Amino acid sequence: MREPLGVERLLELDRQHVWHPYGPMPGRRDPLVVESASGVRLRLAEPVHGVRELVDGMASWWSALHGYNHPVLNEAARAQLDRMSHVMFGGLTHEPAVRLAARLVEITPEGLEHVFLADSGSVSVEVAVKMCLQYWRSSGRPEKRRLMTWRGGYHGDTWTPMSVCDPDGGMHSLWAGVLPEQVFADAPPAGFTAEEDPAYAAHLRELLERHAHELAAVIVEPVVQNAGGMRFHSPSYLRLLRRLCDEYDVLLVFDEIATGFGRTGALFAADHAGVTPDVMCVGKALTGGYLTMAAALCTSRVAEGISRGEVPVLAHGPTFMGNPLAAAVALASIDLLLGQDWQAEVKRIEAGLREGLAPAASLPGVRDVRVLGAIGAVELDRPLDAAGMAAATEAAVREGVWLRPFGQLVYTMPPFVTGDGDVGRICGAVRAAVEAGAGV
Ligand SMILES: *Cc1c(COP(=O)(O)O)cnc(C)c1O
Repeated sequence: MREPLGVERLLELDRQHVWHPYGPMPGRRDPLVVESASGVRLRLAEPVHGVRELVDGMASWWSALHGYNHPVLNEAARAQLDRMSHVMFGGLTHEPAVRLAARLVEITPEGLEHVFLADSGSVSVEVAVKMCLQYWRSSGRPEKRRLMTWRGGYHGDTWTPMSVCDPDGGMHSLWAGVLPEQVFADAPPAGFTAEEDPAYAAHLRELLERHAHELAAVIVEPVVQNAGGMRFHSPSYLRLLRRLCDEYDVLLVFDEIATGFGRTGALFAADHAGVTPDVMCVGKALTGGYLTMAAALCTSRVAEGISRGEVPVLAHGPTFMGNPLAAAVALASIDLLLGQDWQAEVKRIEAGLREGLAPAASLPGVRDVRVLGAIGAVELDRPLDAAGMAAATEAAVREGVWLRPFGQLVYTMPPFVTGDGDVGRICGAVRAAVEAGAGV
């Protein structure tokens, strides 16, 4: 056994050597040191503001559906570990990956038949886009290579996904001239239950008509724009996109990396619309938050199109493609989810969030409070700066809750196993974080 580092030394090394997400180097604020996690609680290595355990309102970036240290997922990982952690996927195959692919085909919208197992969400988006561009190339139309999306989206941090992230909220200004220039529609009108806006529908049609000759695909996050601002829109726009893409001969990609596996109240957000995209990405909650894995699924039309080409193969193959350990845990996580009345759990959390977050609407500096499925968000009337963000985070920690506000948002996407008491506690912490953040 190695000697434990001790919190002080650990943080010193962390500052010196370790990049954190979207962070400067060296780091300017000390992260909290987590020692272990169980159920919906993170246990800190030492108390912070007198608090040692935090209810995780983030589900580790929306992935830990069943909470931490779950006996069923632990057992699935252990059993697979004793057989093999990994073997290459080129020329070899194995039961966990095959079963997982078949299971994904079974539970995703009708018509998605083929599965590319990738090692992260961003890579699955790269693969989805590669599939679409290659489809047109193989069909003798290589000029169809641009993408269209709507503003307010987020699709990951590698180059192609970055190019379809929101051009204002993302890093577009920093990378102007470097990122491929895509076609941006206005953000979809807000509101899950809002009526379809004919002017917006005409706007989408006009853009598609104008650019169809150069478009490989339209890519969007269905129903919820997540990291781009936690905005909800009507499923009717997804049906509209499906019709327009068919009419103008453009492929349709749904990025369900954040919305998949029940988060919005439907198993996949596409199910709200009853629409099958040509390509669909899943990730984040795929392994219940245990290991890194994502997938791009496509229809037979896309696969056959690619196979007709001069180069009939999809030239992509991550080293850890189809990782057996991740696949085994993903299968167990899906079984665990579908083996219970998950819709009732999501509805229960939705009701708790509605009740607990409603009072935030009357707090100073609050523009909007919205809830859909197990997603609750409070939007402020201006973005939090670094000090506001730190104050908001600290206020939540004092309430015994882990939150990570960003932009104008204090939000939660808790694990589905969060009990009513803890949902209430998270809502209290969101309100405290809003007051502290808006007060800076
Ligand atoms: C998180 C996310 C991604 C990127 O996934 P990574 O695993 O972080 O690469 C892509 N699209 C959406 C909608 C996401 O929420």
